[in-house]
Amino acid sequence: MSESEEPEPQRSLKRIIWQYENCLSCVWFLPNDPINADLLERGKCTHPKLKDFELIVSGRDWCNLYKEIRQRHIDVLQEKAMKKEKS
Ligand code: SF4
Repeated sequence: MSESEEPEPQRSLKRIIWQYENCLSCVWFLPNDPINADLLERGKCTHPKLKDFELIVSGRDWCNLYKEIRQRHIDVLQEKAMKKEKS
């Protein structure tokens, strides 16, 4: 079966790609599980303009308030989560 003959759901699935500038790599994303967070991870958006809405976003969501997270910030989130797991 050629690609053009495939039903729409299968064709759309093949178009799912890594989205640059999504919540997973945004400094305002607070994942439920910082240690294992991936594109499907859910978490809170803590952006000052959005936090009052108590948004639950996934790692693959995005918006125009995106700001790239730094590795140091990721390390801090993961260290906190590991300490919490141990206690
Ligand atoms: S919704 Fe926007 S500001 Fe909030 S985590 Fe996602 S990209 Fe960042």
